Amino acid sequence: MVQTLLNIYFQTVDGVVKVDQYLYHMRLSDETLLEISKRFRREMEKGLRAATHPTASVKMLPTFVRSTPDGTEHGEFLALDLGGTNFRVLWVKVTDNGLQKVEIENQIYAIPEDIMRGSGTQLFDHIAECLANFMEKLQIKEKKLPLGFTFSFPCHQTKLDESFLVSWTKGFKSSGVEGRDVVSLIRNAIQRRGDFDIDVVAVVNDTVGTMMTCGYDDQNCEIGLIVGTGSNACYMEEMRHIDMVEGDEGRMCINMEWGAFGDDGSLNDVLTEFDREIDMGSLNPGKQLFEKMISGMYMGELVRLILVKMAREELLFGGKLSPELLQTGLFETKDISDIEGEKDGVRKAREVLVRLGLDPTQEDCVATHRICQIVSTRSANLCAATLAAVLRRIKENKGEERLRSTVGVDGSVYKKHPHFAKRLHKAVRRLVPDCDVRFLRSEDGSGKGAAMVTAVAYRLADQHRA
Ligand code: BGC
Ligand code: MG
Repeated sequence: MVQTLLNIYFQTVDGVVKVDQYLYHMRLSDETLLEISKRFRREMEKGLRAATHPTASVKMLPTFVRSTPDGTEHGEFLALDLGGTNFRVLWVKVTDNGLQKVEIENQIYAIPEDIMRGSGTQLFDHIAECLANFMEKLQIKEKKLPLGFTFSFPCHQTKLDESFLVSWTKGFKSSGVEGRDVVSLIRNAIQRRGDFDIDVVAVVNDTVGTMMTCGYDDQNCEIGLIVGTGSNACYMEEMRHIDMVEGDEGRMCINMEWGAFGDDGSLNDVLTEFDREIDMGSLNPGKQLFEKMISGMYMGELVRLILVKMAREELLFGGKLSPELLQTGLFETKDISDIEGEKDGVRKAREVLVRLGLDPTQEDCVATHRICQIVSTRSANLCAATLAAVLRRIKENKGEERLRSTVGVDGSVYKKHPHFAKRLHKAVRRLVPDCDVRFLRSEDGSGKGAAMVTAVAYRLADQHRA
């Protein structure tokens, strides 16, 4: 009995120590995080200034969203949500009778992989078809409703309803869309059908939608953050600092596209061999290097690559590999959440490894659990580093002694990983001790958010008319 317990103890210690040494480069100290934060701060400035914007990798894109909801918005809207875990069509009704109330109906539609990576016409025809199906179901096909389009990709916007795709990210690679205005692509697809009509009012990044839905409950909300399939953030910047848009009055929301941090080599000393391998195997090599270190589309795969390499070096599984472990995508980010979420995470790790055709020892399971912790903690820490830079910037903009600010957050990693949120909050508070940060989970930021932006645009148009 004592012997067995001792054995388990040593295997546990050995498993942890082995991984900690092996992944030394992935365990970032606060000092390193502060250095990364400083570098990101410089990237932000580069993206904002006219002279450096063309070559900046963090694009700092103006969104033409200037005001957050004030509670008097009302009306009936449609919204599309493309670029997150699911593609959805939504109907949102906002009523303003003293207390604002929001009603929502929504439907998830599949986008087959061949459409995600086929022609742009195919993609937008498919979107229009889903919209038609949804409107039929709700019996609103006869109405010409205003629509907000959450399009979660980097876009060069010139106004609220004109938005040119800079480049696809995540799992999308549909041809002939980059460089085009997605509003005209959707309008054209609807016209080709001819069986219904809508009024496309706004294109919104999911980070912006998230900030807007939270801004509804908390007037201090001036940052929107997504850690899901991809990762990105937006914040309210002073107009006088935004060279890309005329005018010096007030503030405008900037879609930072922080996923592209590092694309110019500025994170080369932080990238590991595993990050480079992920990048080389991706749909967009050389792009979105920061996103690939932190978001849900890649985290599980990072763990898998580490397991494979350690097995090859005979540090795990007695040097044996299985066909499943060698297959891209079979270790999922959800597996990380499951393993870290369970009280007995080591047992859960065994379950996952057995599913992958392996016959793990206790030490292998402990090691796998530890790898998950290190990869997901690095993700939270890196997000904290960039978020800290944003908070510093806002604090300086306002010239306040102590900043009080709210971050609206959404995304599958933030919401579903059992410790991600807590680790992120803690790290941010360590990195910017002079800010009181509140994190607010957004309820359906990318769906409701687009409708919110559309509603605000309608309210402002009303005021202009009045
Ligand atoms: C996109 C961003 C988006 C983020 C989160 C990234 O890949 O470039 O526009 O906000 O994913 O969905
Ligand atoms: Mg989303």
